[in-house]
Amino acid sequence: MRRKTKRIICIALIYTLFCLIAVLVKHFVDLKTEAESLENISEKSTDQEMELTKEPVIKVVTPGTGHVVCIDAGHQQYADMKKEPIGPGATKKKPRVDGGTIGKYTGINEYQINLDIALKLQKELEERGYTVVMTRTTNDVNISNSERSVIANDAKAEAFLRIHADGSDDNKVHGASAVCQTKNNPYNGNLYESSRKLSDCVLDGVVASTGCKKRQVIEVDSMSGINWSSVPTSIIEVGYLSNKDEEVKLTQESYQELVAKGIADGLDNYFK
Ligand SMILES: [Zn+2]
Repeated sequence: MRRKTKRIICIALIYTLFCLIAVLVKHFVDLKTEAESLENISEKSTDQEMELTKEPVIKVVTPGTGHVVCIDAGHQQYADMKKEPIGPGATKKKPRVDGGTIGKYTGINEYQINLDIALKLQKELEERGYTVVMTRTTNDVNISNSERSVIANDAKAEAFLRIHADGSDDNKVHGASAVCQTKNNPYNGNLYESSRKLSDCVLDGVVASTGCKKRQVIEVDSMSGINWSSVPTSIIEVGYLSNKDEEVKLTQESYQELVAKGIADGLDNYFK
């Protein structure tokens, strides 16, 4: 009997020991899981903090902006050679919208370059707090030069900016120019001062941003898009699609961004 009792006590002790070990192991595993889940929570909250940092609650708007600007990407996919008067009440007529130039080296169409830059400029200006009106956002349109001006007039734009690229038979010619009316323009000579200032500001902005050659501000009264405009207006000729270096640059997204930034800087200066 004593032996049997001893054995029972021994078995009971071993069983208790096993139970104790099992309880300890379970407790340890639980602790570990808890620690891991705490770690996950802290990782998640760090992620959330990062997201919050990326999206500030208050949107910073650049001071001095909020102006209405109309952007016209020059030309369109198909020229419309039907004629329209070159100004309100004019007897002289010119094609509604011609085909623009074509890159000598890459074959790129001017209307495409103009649109690429115009869309980048739209984004840049909107980010700076401007109200932007676009005459077109695709190539497949038919809007004459005078109709584009009317879009700017109706929008009461404070500046009507038309984006174009140049072409020349001389492949050495390169650089940017701007175009506005003369002070004697019979349709809107009263807008000469502001249009000239706009042209100077935008041309200087593009030259500073891209480092391209500064050519000149040309004053002419033969452009329908200028003559029909009843708001300050300028054509920015961003470069030559007949000069190899400049043409290749103008097809590059990064250079187009610089042109758009330069135009936007010029507009900021114009409105200062
Ligand atoms: Zn053009």
